[in-house]
Amino acid sequence: MAEPSTSSSSSSKNAIPPGGMVLGPDGKPCKPCTAFRNWKPLSDAKKKSTRGGKSAAAMMAALASGQNAAADGDVPPPNCPADVEQLGRATWTFLHTTAAYYPERPTLNQRANMLGLLNALPSLYPCSHCASHLAGNMKDHPPDVSGRVALSRWLCERHNDVNERLGKDKFDCAKTDERWKDGPNDGTCD
Ligand SMILES: Cc1cc2nc3c(=O)[nH]c(=O)nc-3n(C[C@H](O)[C@H](O)[C@H](O)COP(=O)(O)OP(=O)(O)OC[C@H]3O[C@@H](n4cnc5c(N)ncnc54)[C@H](O)[C@@H]3O)c2cc1C
Repeated sequence: MAEPSTSSSSSSKNAIPPGGMVLGPDGKPCKPCTAFRNWKPLSDAKKKSTRGGKSAAAMMAALASGQNAAADGDVPPPNCPADVEQLGRATWTFLHTTAAYYPERPTLNQRANMLGLLNALPSLYPCSHCASHLAGNMKDHPPDVSGRVALSRWLCERHNDVNERLGKDKFDCAKTDERWKDGPNDGTCD
């Protein structure tokens, strides 16, 4: 599977760049393919003048949105288009929540609609290299839309495939309902 090319590199074999905008299939810079911190690579001088390499704007945005900039990394200011991470979090939230409320026994129509939604992602998801990885992954693991539990597990496993590729910890798929439907037993989400 092809890795994204970047505006700061001519090699299409580069992985997610340490700095530089990923280019989309049209050869143009692709914001939803790129982490905000790489939209405009800072010069060394600028890096030294910002705490931990974060721009003042990104730190203000993180504070304004209640996020911990140190823990979450740079985030686009609230009025900016989504970067690859915001888009990913929002999409996973939508997909996992939709799976959590999918019927235990879906009708044929509901199954067809869910299949349509999932099968559209590889061609429509705006992060093109994410979409192309997903297409390959879904070929090997076709969606299981037979019911709520099976769909939630299938989605958890696809998300874990991405986590693994990005070097992140795997999520315990036994905790999918706790995370996306019921909340923890300690009542913090009640
Ligand atoms: C289809 C798709 C493909 C993507 N491909 C790429 C890619 O190729 N390259 C890239 O850089 N980014 C990709 N992303 C974005 C990436 O997956 C993350 O969304 C982004 O890096 C932000 O990560 P995060 O650590 O904030 O949490 P996310 O991975 O966005 O997860 C959000 C929350 O979901 C929960 N969670 C985590 N794993 C699971 C799981 N397996 N099951 C259920 N819940 C879980 C956790 O509570 C987590 O905080 C993709 C996103 C999507 C939707």
